[in-house]
Amino acid sequence: MRAGTGAALTAALSTACAAPSVRTGATPPPGPSDGTGGTPPGPDSTGAAASPYRTNGTTGPGGRRVRTRVAPAPRRFPGRPAQIEHGPRDRPAVALTFHGQGDPAIARTLLAQAERAGARVTVLAVGSWLDEHPAMARRILDGGHDLGNHTQRHLTVSDMPDAEALREITDCAHRLRRLTGSIGTWFRPSRTQYATARVQRLAARAGYPHVLSYDVDSLDFTSPGATAVTRKVAGEIRNGSVVSLHFGYADTVAALPALLDDLHRRGLRAVTTTELLTP
Ligand SMILES: [Zn+2]
Repeated sequence: MRAGTGAALTAALSTACAAPSVRTGATPPPGPSDGTGGTPPGPDSTGAAASPYRTNGTTGPGGRRVRTRVAPAPRRFPGRPAQIEHGPRDRPAVALTFHGQGDPAIARTLLAQAERAGARVTVLAVGSWLDEHPAMARRILDGGHDLGNHTQRHLTVSDMPDAEALREITDCAHRLRRLTGSIGTWFRPSRTQYATARVQRLAARAGYPHVLSYDVDSLDFTSPGATAVTRKVAGEIRNGSVVSLHFGYADTVAALPALLDDLHRRGLRAVTTTELLTP
């Protein structure tokens, strides 16, 4: 089955991770669209000190404190380059990484498919998507997955002047921090497989010591059919691979169970990028 609207257009733009912004209407105005506010962090007023959850300064309806788990912050992985394309080649683990945008029902289905198979994934969320679907940030983290930054509007940051490109990174970082207490563990630039040295510097300035590239491109965003997606990934994946996949496409939903089966048969564990890189 082919993906719906925008698929052909996307294919025409095909460079790695080049899925265009989902056209679900006007960009929401800046600022909270999910009822969270800018209350400064404070102690957990609910008294559940032993809980892994604590307030991160957000407020819910009626101004009540909302208890949320503070997500992990970016880390430096010593011995790894600033731009990470893959993990260790001597361990049978891989990272499935997703462009986080598109219909949230598709996103939830993909997360559930992964979880049923015992897989954990990495989602690089587009900031404007989080504005439209703020609950997805918590859904991703609650599934044990990594959550990262994939710029605010998914534009070609490498072509922008420094200040504008930095803002695309920091705007998404602010969304993530407001929703999760952290700017997310990873940054991946939009519409390119590799960050330029300049974008790497800007990402570091925004708080990300590494940028996350990949070594296997599923090409799912070109809607080539589920079999083609599975065959492409299965043919190229190996120990340490980081695979580029996308939320928002029907082919990915149709391909993922077979892909997970293939990994299972080959003894390749699908883990978060953090786990892939942690010795
Ligand atoms: Zn992307």
